[in-house]
Amino acid sequence: MSKVIAVNAGSSSLKFQLFEMDNETVITSGVIERIGMEDSIFTIKYNGEKDVRTLAIPTHKEAVHLLLDTLIEKQIVSSLDEIKGVGHRVVQGGSYFQESAIIDEDVINKIDELKSLAPLHNPAHLTGYYAFKEAIPSAGAVAVFDTAFHQTLQPKCYIYPIPYKFYTENKVRKYGAHGTSHFYVSQRVIDKLGQPEHSKIIVAHLGAGGSLTAVKDGKSINTSMGFTPLAGIMMGTRSGDLDPSIIDYLIEQVGMDMKDVIHMLNKESGLLGVSGVSSDFRDVLNAANEGNERAKLAIDIFFRRVIAYIGRYFIALGGCDAIAFTAGIGENSAYARKEILSLVSEALGIVVDDDANENGEGERLISTPESKIKVYVIPTNEELVIARDTKRLLNL
Ligand code: ADP
Repeated sequence: MSKVIAVNAGSSSLKFQLFEMDNETVITSGVIERIGMEDSIFTIKYNGEKDVRTLAIPTHKEAVHLLLDTLIEKQIVSSLDEIKGVGHRVVQGGSYFQESAIIDEDVINKIDELKSLAPLHNPAHLTGYYAFKEAIPSAGAVAVFDTAFHQTLQPKCYIYPIPYKFYTENKVRKYGAHGTSHFYVSQRVIDKLGQPEHSKIIVAHLGAGGSLTAVKDGKSINTSMGFTPLAGIMMGTRSGDLDPSIIDYLIEQVGMDMKDVIHMLNKESGLLGVSGVSSDFRDVLNAANEGNERAKLAIDIFFRRVIAYIGRYFIALGGCDAIAFTAGIGENSAYARKEILSLVSEALGIVVDDDANENGEGERLISTPESKIKVYVIPTNEELVIARDTKRLLNL
């Protein structure tokens, strides 16, 4: 029996899923939030029960100890040595990592070096890594990079049309994100298409953050996020693509400083910024249904920004076999899927199976047999990819 824990360490949080890898089942999962505060929250799910505790957890080190002590206390494991591998999600792998890697000195140095590209994330991942390494020294550790799946992009897709030296000297290029999700979902679709030799798939990962990826023959050929996850479609609080001159204009005309503008684009824009109601799609939709015009506008912009990428990627792929929806909005909102598809159905010959879209559950086809493009809902499972890569690389 080999147990592997998939870990996503953020700046103030730590999400985990413990897998029994022989049958790929989740034994326990949970999250520790508000690390560093007096009222940190530890949530753990086990045996169908959810246990929530509020207590002060000063650092990731204490968070990891609390988690591991709880695993023993609840007899989820009898000894920590049962955990043979720890898989860490890492947001930024730069151009170094085309795939997951066993964490050693060299990998640590590269993750550390790349912190300039992901200042909130990469240092937190390393903190999480050190905390687990100290607590379970016998377990191997693997880094699974959010950028790795997009390393198959060609220079014509990842180089920005600015002076080339900013790429060679400063690493400015498109890296993309959500790669683990796009990989998992596109592989599920390829399976469903019957493992064709050639496949053209558009994955729409629509959550609080969101991105679309064009996947040709299993490889990412383009993706909507860019140098950072601020680019691409409109998101919960992020603007997505816009004219960079707006930044200078706001600094000159409104007197904001650069930090304010970047904060505004990351945290105060998107659905929240336009609607003024919330960053949460459900809240904005409720407000729109109650007649709030700005909430309606926010949702209309969101849909239009998504279809712009569907159109782009349909052309880039030279057609499309399947579109897959995933993440919070993509998996759960039949309304969002229906509206997005209705905006492209005439051009792309998509016919939605309303019953499957509205009443079905989990992984499923939501287009009819006449539809020129198959449309799927595929719940994403990044943790499973992390656990599988950890098992594979550590030979467990
Ligand atoms: P994250 O990027 O934080 O992982 P999620 O994938 O959990 O985000 O997606 C969160 C988004 O999904 C929120 O905007 C939320 O409103 C939306 N969402 C979740 N469930 C539903 C639902 N049943 N209907 C519509 N939107 C939903």
